[in-house]
Amino acid sequence: MHNVVIIGSGCAGLTAAIYAARANLKPLVIDGHEQGGQLSLTTHVENYPGFPDGIMGPELIENMRKQAQRFGAEFKAGAVNEVDLTKHPFKIAAGKDSYEAKTLIVAAGASARLLGLPGEKELIGRGLSTCATCDGYFFREKAIAVVGGGDSAMEEANFLTRYASKVYLIHRRKEFRASKIMIDRVKANPKVELVIPAVVEKIHAPEGHVTGIQVRNPEGKETSNIDVHGVFVAIGHDPNSTVFKGKLEMDSNGYLIPKHGTLTSVPGVFVAGDVQDHRYRQAVTAAGSGCMAALDAEKFLEEHTG
Ligand code: NAP
Repeated sequence: MHNVVIIGSGCAGLTAAIYAARANLKPLVIDGHEQGGQLSLTTHVENYPGFPDGIMGPELIENMRKQAQRFGAEFKAGAVNEVDLTKHPFKIAAGKDSYEAKTLIVAAGASARLLGLPGEKELIGRGLSTCATCDGYFFREKAIAVVGGGDSAMEEANFLTRYASKVYLIHRRKEFRASKIMIDRVKANPKVELVIPAVVEKIHAPEGHVTGIQVRNPEGKETSNIDVHGVFVAIGHDPNSTVFKGKLEMDSNGYLIPKHGTLTSVPGVFVAGDVQDHRYRQAVTAAGSGCMAALDAEKFLEEHTG
């Protein structure tokens, strides 16, 4: 029986683990599909406070893991496939393993959708990004492409014109899904060129770094190449919340809905990080909410175990 089980080993889960471990609660962290979460898929992180020269994402997350281990957090590989939150203690199953927990912190994160092109994942941090706020700065005075037609793509395209010399906005349809005001802003921005309708067929990276893309007009079938140093894929995120369907309150996109900080509809279950945040999605905000969840779990245990 564990005092605290933490689902997810990204920034939110590991910060929760550091706090819970320092409170002597011996938390158990279940890593999830992507150990280390989204930070493990990025390169240079320049906006996490405390690192004036920046730090590599994988190094930052590895440091957090070691920090949690130093205070006694335990880690298990595997992804949670079933939870029973109907009674205490909660039951959590991850493959063949099952666990019982007095409190549960859900920090399962969200995964940025990718285009599904061969070699795409390997190019993350090598010209391909899913986060304009994180990586825009690396493309000063360079031409880049943003892929997507929703509000995220519009927001990112506009934001990236602060740095990039030119932004190609590539969308597979002529109509955008984004709200009118966001589309109007992009259309009024002289640095943005709309490439619609266009489907990205290939990302050129002859030496392991993005140099361009090949796009195809889905109507006329003709293809063309665009030289860019970066590709920002902004086609949405999926919160990793499937196992909580019908068990915890979530919005229509699957994001868990926190109450009063990190509390949920089930007493003793807390949420942190991107699985409950489609707005900020930053390492530092995920860490902050992980800290809050651990403090809330600690308080819950104090109140319920006398
Ligand atoms: P979204 O609204 O789901 O839009 C995703 C876009 O990506 C769509 O245009 C979709 O094309 C395209 N897409 C999806 N899969 C694709 C694929 N495999 N290849 C090429 N294109 C693909 O996602 P989002 O833009 O991230 O927004 C998510 C939510 O957050 C929305 O509710 C949005 O309003 C909100 N949001 C709000 C703001 C704001 O108000 N400031 C900013 C960001 C996000 P189709 O249109 O053809 O399906």
